Amino acid sequence: MIKLNKLTVPPEIAEKIRQRQQHYNELDAKGEQIPDSLASAYKAPEVKELLRCETAEKCAYCESKISHVDYGDVEHLLPKSKFPQLRYSYENLTYTCSVCNTKKGDFFDAQTPLLNPYKDKPEDHLMAVGSMIFFIPGSDRGLVTQKRLALNRSNLVERRGERLESVATLIDQIARTKTSAIREVLLHELKEECEASEEYAFVVRTYVEAVLPWIN
Ligand SMILES: [Zn+2]
Repeated sequence: MIKLNKLTVPPEIAEKIRQRQQHYNELDAKGEQIPDSLASAYKAPEVKELLRCETAEKCAYCESKISHVDYGDVEHLLPKSKFPQLRYSYENLTYTCSVCNTKKGDFFDAQTPLLNPYKDKPEDHLMAVGSMIFFIPGSDRGLVTQKRLALNRSNLVERRGERLESVATLIDQIARTKTSAIREVLLHELKEECEASEEYAFVVRTYVEAVLPWIN
């Protein structure tokens, strides 16, 4: 998990969201059945597309690239079952893989909320050790987030390991090259590997910081 920033919602989409919420509130106040199309309109295509841009098509929780293998889920940071007034709120939505979405379910604990990648700094609560992610000792929220979302699922650890192997190869090339132009190109590639849009940036950044003394 890395820190994410909310995009500004274009006015025409904000207006659609406002209308959906208003319609929902009116039906709810009259005790009428909410049609499925309205109940699920929080994940309308234009909203989902914005969220996909915001997370660089990665799961907001586990950082797996979603779009080439899955449709991805529109996820309520605070569960809609407990915060129905936030069903359509863009601020309360993000984009996740279906596994993280299912693991989270409708979990909410006011005392120990899950980390919110838009509001919290994940590195204050979680740390990467190689391809594993641990909670920082003493961080209840880190513990709950790591365990609840199962951030060390075996397939995740395996894929993070493959990413680190590839970055390690690049770093080795940097350490060995004697040509300054090649070194510059490779250092630029390394910088790109650490960007927020890259898969598993959290573990990659930690690894790169740890090995920097060997290539500086
Ligand atoms: Zn995920």
